[in-house]
Amino acid sequence: MTTHAHSNIPKLKNMPNRVLVVDDDPAILQLVQGVLSKAGFEVSVADRPSTALDLMDRDCPDYVITDWMMPEMDGPALCQEIRHRDLPHYVYILFLTGKSQGQDIIQGLESGADDFLIKPIRPAELVARLRAGARVLAMERQLQELIQTDPLTGTMTRRAFERQAERELARAKRHRLELACVMVDIDFFKKINDTYGHPVGDQVLAAVGQLLLKRCRRSDLVGRYGGEEFCVLLPETCEDDAVFWAQWTREAIKQLRFEVGRDKELRISASFGVAGLMADLSSHAALIDLADQALLVAKQLGRDRVVRFSQLNEDELAIPHQGEKDPLEGVTAAQVMSPLVGMLKQTDLVWQAADLFLRYRINSAPVTDDEGKLVGILSEKDILAALTQPEVWKRPVREFMRTQVVCYEEDTPAKKIYTFLCRVSIRRVVVVKNGFPTGIISRGSFLRWYVNWFSANSPEAHRQEDQLLHQRMTNARSNVRQAAEAIIRQATQLKESSEKGHGDFLPELIDRASAIQELVNDMLAESRSFLASSYQTLE
Ligand code: GH3
Ligand code: MG
Ligand code: MG
Repeated sequence: MTTHAHSNIPKLKNMPNRVLVVDDDPAILQLVQGVLSKAGFEVSVADRPSTALDLMDRDCPDYVITDWMMPEMDGPALCQEIRHRDLPHYVYILFLTGKSQGQDIIQGLESGADDFLIKPIRPAELVARLRAGARVLAMERQLQELIQTDPLTGTMTRRAFERQAERELARAKRHRLELACVMVDIDFFKKINDTYGHPVGDQVLAAVGQLLLKRCRRSDLVGRYGGEEFCVLLPETCEDDAVFWAQWTREAIKQLRFEVGRDKELRISASFGVAGLMADLSSHAALIDLADQALLVAKQLGRDRVVRFSQLNEDELAIPHQGEKDPLEGVTAAQVMSPLVGMLKQTDLVWQAADLFLRYRINSAPVTDDEGKLVGILSEKDILAALTQPEVWKRPVREFMRTQVVCYEEDTPAKKIYTFLCRVSIRRVVVVKNGFPTGIISRGSFLRWYVNWFSANSPEAHRQEDQLLHQRMTNARSNVRQAAEAIIRQATQLKESSEKGHGDFLPELIDRASAIQELVNDMLAESRSFLASSYQTLE
């Protein structure tokens, strides 16, 4: 099912009609503006190149008509500058100049201009040339749309989305504009595929993609981020408004109906994570990550809901006050922290760190000096970027760790750390005792602490949880038994074939070994989800 019916790649449907005119002569600006407005163009003007560049940065026009001789920077230089910029779409540049020598025309075209118009201005010709430019723009955009659109959903591909998102973040920071990110993930989508088949799954994806696009403004970005996960970027929108948008969209998704078999309708829901731009965020990836964390919490809390990052640990979500009492009152860091699983010495080598991360399934570890005192923190991400150079494997982790670690003594009030984690995008802090690391506190630590606190304080929750746990345990056992049996079957066949010793053993070996690997992965996944359900690993 391929559809391009609705897409958020810049306005192909509307003819390109936004013109920016740059000239230091106010009379010319007025004249051109008059002519073009009358012809139906949307015109803005700038009396110098720097103003023009600034305007373009805020809202990129389709055409630029520029004078040649100007103070600050001449027309060809402006032209080159525009061509060097990473703009959201191609801009058609037209020179309006008294220069008519062959040499000038060559210089102008080489600087990146598309067309020339010699003064004095003839209105009909000016309009005709812009219309000719429209054909070039339309073709260019059609091509872009094709490359940047996910064919199933009509939203942007992840790559195109990331590129535009990076641009939007830079723009928001430069002009101190608001920016919000919403992550949308369809609930229990795997089950839809499993129950009704992939084509129905695809139909659901396409419908959700189209719905998101319909609910967005032209300047918003909608990208397909993962299989059934969409990311939406809302420029000039604060977190509150984004939450409002998300609630409204969540309702709309619940109204969708899909026919599956006779008299049977499928309904779906989705979970939303929302984050607004914060001062300490330096990349679009960091903003998306916050929305993703909020999404994770939305899933944890039971799906079909909107969770905003800034409230992740605020009272109403993580720590509801029962009566007057704040459950965190009198609690210290030591009581909330997760004990350290793995620790690194600064002289340990990168491959040893990688090994530690893999073995304990952790993604970061504190780094200590020879005495065991905290000197830094190393995460998977820190070494990942360097891994493509083999010599890096034998370098000490000292060279890759981050030395700025937020740490708190064990007796710090937990509330203080809680408030800190609510406000910043840092995911975790290290807990130390006299400088020696003893534990880690993440947002997950607080969620876990709260869940424990809640079940300890509510007998009913306790009972339900026990039942749930029992049920999961039974399921897990049965899944593991099936996987184990399948492994035995595969392994036995493999053993028999290896004993026969005929020629084409390799394909079978690969087949069966990968089947076994898949089964083992399933078992590990089972163990993880089982652990998660017994609330041991919320991170
Ligand atoms: P949750 O509520 O926790 O999000 O559970 P879920 O089942 O929605 O999420 P999960 O990530 O476990 O499953 C996503 C599934 O999406 C797995 C994958 O097979 C499926 N998927 C990914 N891309 C496509 C696609 O293009 N078409 C179809 N039909 N399915 C897809
Ligand atoms: Mg999902
Ligand atoms: Mg998913």
